[in-house]
Amino acid sequence: MENEYLKARKILIVEDDLSSRLYLNKILEKTGAFLVNAADGSEAINAVEKDPGIQLILMDIQLPIIDGYGAARKIRELRHDVIIIAQTAFSLTGDREKIISSGFDDYIVKPIFPQQLIERLVNALKIRDDRD
Ligand SMILES: [Mg+2]
Repeated sequence: MENEYLKARKILIVEDDLSSRLYLNKILEKTGAFLVNAADGSEAINAVEKDPGIQLILMDIQLPIIDGYGAARKIRELRHDVIIIAQTAFSLTGDREKIISSGFDDYIVKPIFPQQLIERLVNALKIRDDRD
């Protein structure tokens, strides 16, 4: 279903697992967002360098070449304003601290459910829009 907050936003999906990437695309394309994909941390950094229109990043943590923590730290250096949300299989305290200290705005624990994902992205955008 089209979503007033996500419609026409540009979202970067970073996920190395193809079926997970397709699943996330399927959920988010219905909202009317523009979707860009990256399959590893290095591709994600390149995408952000090339495209200043990316407003929100959904970042897997376990990624080849550069992992999600490293990619988020680098992207945060490049773009102060972009929203970066981690998608992680972990929910341990140490991981939460590492996620926040790496520059992520929020995180979602896998498995990811469509309604929950959309709500978290909308919330992050509302917080960011209110701040600006
Ligand atoms: Mg992965």
